[in-house]
Amino acid sequence: MFRGHSQRFRAHVKTHEAIIDNEYWYEDGPPFLAAQFTAKKTAERQADVIDILLRAANRADSTGDRELAKRYGLLSDKLEGCRRHRRCGSMACPKCARATQRAKVDAEQRFIDSQELRNSGKYLVLLSLIPEAMTYEPGELHSIDIINANRWLKDTLDGLSIKRTTFGCPDFGWENRRGGNYFQLHWHLAAWTRHPARLKAQLKRGFCRARKYERPVDVEVTYDHDFLPYMNKVVKLPDLLRRACRQLPELLLTLDRFDPLDFMVLRGLRLSAQGRRIKLSRIRKAK
Ligand SMILES: [Zn+2]
Repeated sequence: MFRGHSQRFRAHVKTHEAIIDNEYWYEDGPPFLAAQFTAKKTAERQADVIDILLRAANRADSTGDRELAKRYGLLSDKLEGCRRHRRCGSMACPKCARATQRAKVDAEQRFIDSQELRNSGKYLVLLSLIPEAMTYEPGELHSIDIINANRWLKDTLDGLSIKRTTFGCPDFGWENRRGGNYFQLHWHLAAWTRHPARLKAQLKRGFCRARKYERPVDVEVTYDHDFLPYMNKVVKLPDLLRRACRQLPELLLTLDRFDPLDFMVLRGLRLSAQGRRIKLSRIRKAK
C-alpha cells in the first residue's frame, strides 16, 4: 500500500517538505559528509542506481514477473525525474537520501549544542544495537516494516527501563561473509549518560548475541559530532553497489515504501520544520 495516505505521513509532510524544498541540502556545504558523498559523486551513484533498476526490470520481465518489472521501472522513472526544485523525496533516491541525512545531521548537531549545559558531566554516547531476529534474506525484504521495527525498539528500551532522551536511525547492513547472506536491520542511536558501562550492561539484557555478531550491543563514548553522518546513513550505498548489486533493487523498493523521516527514532523528542531546516526539541512533560 502506498503510505502517502497514512496519518503518520501527513504528520511528517511539513518536515519532509522543509528538506526536499531546500536545495541547500542537495548541494555541498556544512554539515559535511565523507569525501565520497559530495553532490557530484552522489549524482554519479544516482545514475548507477537507475541503471541497476532498469536491468532488474529487464530481468524480472524476462522471467515473466511483469508486476515486479513494472515496479522497478516506476522507481527508476521516479529517480530519473528527481531534479532541482522537483525532488522525488524517496529514500531509494541517493540524492534525496543524502539531503535527508544532511538535514538530520544539521538538526542533531544544533540539538546537541543546545543541550550542553543540561548534560554537563554526562557522556554523549553512540549506541549500536543489533536485534537477533531482524535479518532478511533476499526475497524477504518486502516483509520489512520499519515503523513496527522502530516501535519494537522503543518497547524493548521501555522494558529495560531506559527512558532517556535518545535519537538515531535504523541501518541496513548487508552480510555475505562467513556463510551469511542477508540484510541485518540494526540501529545507531545517540544518548547521554553518566555511566556508559552501566548503560551497556542494561542494554545487553534486551539484545542477545545476534547470528554472527560478537557484540550485539556497543556503547561508544564520543567527544565530537563526527559520528552523526555515520549514524544517519541508513545504508552504505557505495558498499552495496560493490558487494550487493543483485540485492540492491529489492532493498530500494523497500526503502521507497516509507517516508524518509520514518527512518528516525526519537525518544522524548519531536521533530518540526523550522523555516527550511528541521528542528529537534524536547517534549515537555505535562505537570
Ligand atoms: Zn530524489
